[in-house]
This record gives sequence, C-alpha cells and structure tokens, in this order.
Amino acid sequence: MKSQARVVIVGGGMMGVGLLYHLALEGWTDCILVEKGELTSGSTWHAAGQCPSFISSYTMAQIHHYSNTLYPRLEAMTGQATGWHGTGGIRFATNQIELDYFQRVMGIAANVGFRVQIISPEEIRRINPFVTTNGVLAGAWTLDDGYVDPASCCNAMASAAKNLGATIIKYNRVTGVTQLPSGEFEAVTEQGNIRCEHVVNAAGCYADRVSAWLGVQTTLANMKHQYVVTAPVKEFMERTEEIPVMRDPYASSYYRQEMKSGLIGIYEGRDTREAWVDIGGPKWDSSNELFEAELEPIMPWLERVMERMPILANVGIKRVVNGAISHTSDGNPLVGPAADVRNFWLCTGSSIGIAQGAGCGKYLAQWMVHGAADVNMLSVDPRRFGAFADQAYTAAKAHREYWDMYRLPPPGEEKPEGRPARISPLYEKLKSKGCIFTEGFGWERAKWFSLDGRVEDHSFRRNNIFEVIGAECRAVRERVGIFELPSFAKFDLTGKDVEVFLNRLTANRVSQQNDGIVLAHALTESGRISTEFTITRLASDHFYLLSGAYAYQRDLDLLRFSKRADEDVTVTDITNDYSILILAGPHARSVLSKLTSADLSNAAFRWLTGKEIDVAGIRVRALRVNYVGELGWELHVPMNRVVALYDAVWAAGEELGIADFGLYAMNSLRMEKAYAGWGAELTNEVTPIEAGLDRFVKLDKDFVGRAAVLKAKESGVAFKLVYVEVDAKNADVFGGEPVYAGEKVIGVATSGGYGHIVGKSLAFVYVNPGYDAPGAQLSIDILGERCTARVLAKPVYDPENLRLRA
Ligand SMILES: Cc1cc2nc3c(=O)[nH]c(=O)nc-3n(C[C@H](O)[C@H](O)[C@H](O)COP(=O)(O)OP(=O)(O)OC[C@H]3O[C@@H](n4cnc5c(N)ncnc54)[C@H](O)[C@@H]3O)c2cc1C
Repeated sequence: MKSQARVVIVGGGMMGVGLLYHLALEGWTDCILVEKGELTSGSTWHAAGQCPSFISSYTMAQIHHYSNTLYPRLEAMTGQATGWHGTGGIRFATNQIELDYFQRVMGIAANVGFRVQIISPEEIRRINPFVTTNGVLAGAWTLDDGYVDPASCCNAMASAAKNLGATIIKYNRVTGVTQLPSGEFEAVTEQGNIRCEHVVNAAGCYADRVSAWLGVQTTLANMKHQYVVTAPVKEFMERTEEIPVMRDPYASSYYRQEMKSGLIGIYEGRDTREAWVDIGGPKWDSSNELFEAELEPIMPWLERVMERMPILANVGIKRVVNGAISHTSDGNPLVGPAADVRNFWLCTGSSIGIAQGAGCGKYLAQWMVHGAADVNMLSVDPRRFGAFADQAYTAAKAHREYWDMYRLPPPGEEKPEGRPARISPLYEKLKSKGCIFTEGFGWERAKWFSLDGRVEDHSFRRNNIFEVIGAECRAVRERVGIFELPSFAKFDLTGKDVEVFLNRLTANRVSQQNDGIVLAHALTESGRISTEFTITRLASDHFYLLSGAYAYQRDLDLLRFSKRADEDVTVTDITNDYSILILAGPHARSVLSKLTSADLSNAAFRWLTGKEIDVAGIRVRALRVNYVGELGWELHVPMNRVVALYDAVWAAGEELGIADFGLYAMNSLRMEKAYAGWGAELTNEVTPIEAGLDRFVKLDKDFVGRAAVLKAKESGVAFKLVYVEVDAKNADVFGGEPVYAGEKVIGVATSGGYGHIVGKSLAFVYVNPGYDAPGAQLSIDILGERCTARVLAKPVYDPENLRLRA
C-alpha cells in the first residue's frame, strides 16, 4: 500500500467516491480512498436511489442538477451499469404556499437548466393513471430526474475515478488521524500509515467519530428511515412505461415502481416513532447493516399512500428496508473545510446523498484544488455551525428536518426546535416587548416587533406585517431606531505587525488614522470573495474586526491560518464578550448626547470613525457606521452591560420617538441604500470586480488574490452585479429568481426587498456583461410573474450619503 498521497478520503459511499472522481477530474489523481468494508457498505447500498431536482435553494439545485446530468452518462463512460431510470418525478401541491413554492422552483430551474412543468390534477392522472388526486391543486413535474441503483452507480463512479488514476483501498479501516507539526496528516489504517496533505471525512454515519480524532465537532443525528417494496403489481406488469417518482405531502412519502413492484418510502411525522439518534451510530464493525422492520409507526402513512395508489393496497409487502441515514440541523450536507484544522475537510452529513454525491464531489473538488467553488458554498460549509450545535441541538433540529421532508415551509417560518441556543441578556426584555426572533448562527436576533400581538401570516408574498415593517423603517428614517445584534463575529487583533498582516490579507488598505474604519474584503488566491470585515483601528497596534454571524468560524480560521510564524499578531475572539446596539436615525446624536460627555459633533466624531467612549457610565466602543444609511452609532457594549445600556438609551430616546426595529426592517433599509450583503451578493463565486467593489480594492499594494483580480479586470468579467428597481406587485425578490432580457435568461437575482420609504421594490442581480448599463430594461420572474426591472445608477435613497455624514 502507498504510504504517501496528496489526499486521503475516509469512506467509500456515494459522497466519498463522488469526491474522489472529481478530484481526479481536476487533476488530483494522487488521492487514496480508504473504505473499511465494500464500497457503499454504509448507507449507500440500501438507499432507494432517487435523485430529485425539485429544489428551491440555488446552490443545492446546482448540486442535484449536476448529479442528474452525470449519472445518465456514467454507464457509457465506464461500461458499468448504474441502473439509471429517467422517470422524472411529480410532486403534489395542496395549498397556496406550496403552489408559490412551485413557482420558486420553476425560477431556479430556469437558471440552473432543468425542466419543470406545473401540471393540473388531470395531467397528473394522465401521466400516472393509478394515482388519485383528492385535495391536489397541481403537480410539479420535473422531467430530468429519476433514480439509480445506488451501489451500481457508486461503483461506476469509482471505476471512472480509478480510470483517471485515483486509488481505492477496500477492507481497510482508518483507525486514527493525527496532524503533524509540518501540517501534514498521518492516517493510521489497518494496512499501514499514509502521510498526506489533506484528509477528507466522508464517513457517513461514522463521521462524528472520525472528526473527533482531530478534535473537531461534527454533530450529526443518525436516524432510521424506511421504505417498503411490495409484491409485483398486476397493473405495472401490464404496461411498459414506468410511473414517475411521486412525492406526496399528504402521505409524507415517495412512491415509485421498483421493476414491477411498488416502492414506498415514508418520512413519518412527529411523534410517530422514536427516531434513532445515537452518537454511537452504527457499530464500527457493522457492514451492510439494516435494522428490524418497524411497520407500526409508518402504518398511518402507508395507508395514505394506499389511498392515493389503490393498486398498491392489496399486493402485500415483500421487503422492508430500515437503514441508517445521517441528518444535519438544517437538512444540508457538510461540504467544505472542518473548523480549526487546516486541510481537514468534510464531505458528509447528506440525507439525500445519492442525489448529492456527484454534485458535492464536484464543487468540493473545485474548492480544494482552486481555493473556491463555482457555486455559493455558504449553505453547505460545515463551519455554518459552531460549538452551540451540540448533540442535543442537532438531534432536535434534525428530527424536525426529517418530519418536514415533505412539507414545503413558507419563508420566515420559525422552527422552535433546539432554541434558544444563544441569547444575549437583553433577550427576555425584547421578548416582553413583542420581539419576534429569528435564529442566526445559534443566536436569537430580532426579526420584527409585534406591538399589537399580531402573528405573521407567513408567505412568499407581502403579508399582514408589511405595514408593521414599514412603520419600523419610518421610525429609523424619521426619528431614531434601536436594534440589538449580538451575533456579529468580533475579533481583536493586536501586535506591531497587524497593519502589515491586514493589508496583505485584505484587498483594501487599513486606515492610517487611529480611529478610522474601513470595509475590507479577504479574497481567495483565485480572487473570489471570502469574507467582508469592518476594520476599526483603535490604536497603532490594535484593530477591531467585525464580520457576519455565519462568518465567525471561517474568519477565525482565516485569521489564525494566515498569520506567519514570525509575525507579531495576536487574534483574540471577543464575539461572546460584546453585544451591539445599533442606534440610527436623525435623532441619534440627540439621544446619545444625553448619555455621554464625549463630543459627538461632526468635527470630533466623523462618519467612518470609531472610539471608546462612556455612555450612561458604561465603556463602549462607538462606531459611526451602520447598514441602514442614517446618522447613527453602533454601540459595542460588554455583554453583561447591554441591558443597562439599552434601558438608558431607550429612556433618553423616548421623548424623541425611539422605536425598536429588526432584521426585516434592516433588509428594507439596506436595499434602499444599495448595500450588498455578504453571503448573498458577496460570495465565493465572484471577484470584487464582478461585485462592483472596485473602490475597496487597492491594486497598488500586494494582497492575497491580487494577481487574479488584475486578470479579471484585464480579461473582462463573467458577470456583473447590478441594482434594480422592480415593478413588482405583491411579492418582492427573494433570491434565486431568473432574470431575462426578452426571452433569454441573462442573470440571477441574489436578494431583494421592498423599500418602504421610497415605495419601490428593489433587488440585486448578477447579469451577463452587456446588460449592466444604468437604464437597461430587464425582467425578473417573481412567483411566475414577469416583472419589469430597470438597472439603477445609484442608491434610491440618499445617494450622496448626506444623512450618514449629517
Ligand atoms: C432507507 C433509505 C433510503 C434512502 N433513499 C435515498 C434516496 O432515494 N436518494 C438519496 O439521495 N438518498 C437516499 N438515502 C440517503 C443515502 O443513503 C445517504 O444520504 C448516502 O448514502 C450517504 O452517503 P455517504 O457516502 O455520506 O455515507 P455512506 O454510504 O454511509 O458511506 C460512508 C462510508 O464510510 C465508511 N467508513 C466509515 N468509517 C470508516 C473508517 N474509519 N475507515 C474506513 N471507512 C470508513 C463506511 O463503511 C461507509 O461505507 C436513503 C437512506 C435510507 C436509510
């Protein structure tokens, strides 16, 4: 056995093999996949093999679509059967929310390139003459998907990888991995040790134990999932065509043909079974393990399937498959770098891993080889979870994900499971004031305030809190608003080399002045956006860095890993030590002046400066910046003093009409100011040039990614971010909608919202070159309606930043 390789992948299921093949395709053939049993002997072999393309997330849809274009070709490529059945699928809608969801998927499909048609119940019955459609309003017919035989397909992909030069070693357990002082790894296997540059954990239900070797927390809930196969069905035997894979919220299940039998898989709802969560997972030495059939909990759902498909009712069950499946807290897989350990990667946690194996492998391979993937990986990055996502949290959330597998939840719906995980001391007070919270990186954050007790009627369309959000926006624009955001990632960087370090790490130049604030982007070597920092220089050797809640672990790793051995730079994580009160609006100065002797005048405290001052006797870091475009300060206050500060500010602001606001209002206000968002517009898919951040890029100095940015500037960009006004009627851009010039898709919307002050629907859109000129006329498909959109030259609200500088 080889004792040296570039990459060792632990685990030979669909995820590990998918990665091996795509690493080899990218030219990394010096990779060894080690599997403790036969390939697929974990969860892959027993899966039902469906590969759906009905996905409403742009990233996940691209992952699924890629698999669905590769699997049908694999047999011809390798000579090995995959059992691909391109039957397509039909998903039922039984209410308006689901119909709107269908329209969103139609939009995603137009962008990604797979076919979906919304069809009537009559049409459903024409395609599947055996199904009843009581209560069904419509079906989403996805024509380009189907199912595979998972073991054959995985083995075909393994052949393709081997043909390219990759190595697979079976019947060889990895028993430990250590990182050496050189940064390399030593993977200990039953057949000897392998030294390598990268280790990938693709161990499925065993992934938490593999991560534990390197001290990494990978919380998965391993659960049981069952499908049954019926005896042969006469009606299927009498025809040559196959029915599509049916997906049915009423029965919380999928059903299809398996040869001439029926195959029915159930995601039974809440409280019907003690779904299995066990950190021990399947035993180390288990292979091709299945559990005893547990028919009782799935019976009510099976009966519903029989109602829908009466031909399945009397044939009897031939086989029950009850297998292990790993679930994460949000239903997305864990694909990307593990926290804390450089060059340790995860490619696991997939509960739809047959469908996702090839796609995840493709984009993770890009990330590993090129430093960035071509799709936005934020929603699959393992570092979207932190220490708060312990086993209890993950189990609670993963159960909910399982129950909801066939529900199409409306946007904004809050799921209580595992919450609250992280709260500031102000939480109870805000709650008593009617705050509706939403979760971000475990933190409870104000979404909006229900002052009259109303409950949001969740919808893809403008709803019963539209006016409430408008009132919160007006309070900020006309008077003064206050909003606690404890969730920002916060780091203190100290040492004599910090300035040099940050100027190397980010494309902007840090402030030369001891109170200056700049916005700076760290890029990958390939020039793509990795993160966005707000950097305040507090002293010549002390900088305060802020970034998004979900960037916390990524940025902590980036800062630590980027420091050179001889550099005097200390990174201190103070995220949990400080909360942030955002005070914004024309009266912000008047309110704050009542509580501090610090000079808040423009001459003494300019926009884009920050300093430590006392407010109500509490030492705070006051930064004159905000994301809403008004005069204001962010008050960074020790966590244990946030209630006292909030009370003091509120009391001082009462006579000036102070009001609470939350994230919904903030989104509206930032859209009016055309502030792009990290994770939506600013992602690993784009360079700062494409994102229109040229003014934050200082090409006259050296920084990570500079050469690639220069190249992008010279050779022209693939797409360009534009800000548009949309003639939307009762629904605004959400993100993922296709953008058209005539009948041609020329772009994709990334985020949007209604600007309550300007009375306009606004959005950010990436378009192909040639469609970015101000005034260009485009159209955006919002929930099936083509809405005209115009490219704007500047923000619709205060384009000169007069209010920020006031
Ligand atoms: C009943 C059922 C039906 C399903 N149907 C579908 C479906 O229709 N469509 C779909 O997309 N998904 C389906 N799934 C889910 C799918 O099976 C999983 O998402 C997928 O198999 C996960 O693949 P994986 O590679 O991550 O894990 P696995 O297939 O479990 O692979 C992990 C591998 O790692 C190996 N390993 C672990 N530790 C070590 C070690 N220390 N050393 C060496 N090797 C190690 C294991 O032996 C195993 O082979 C279904 C699941 C169940 C239970």
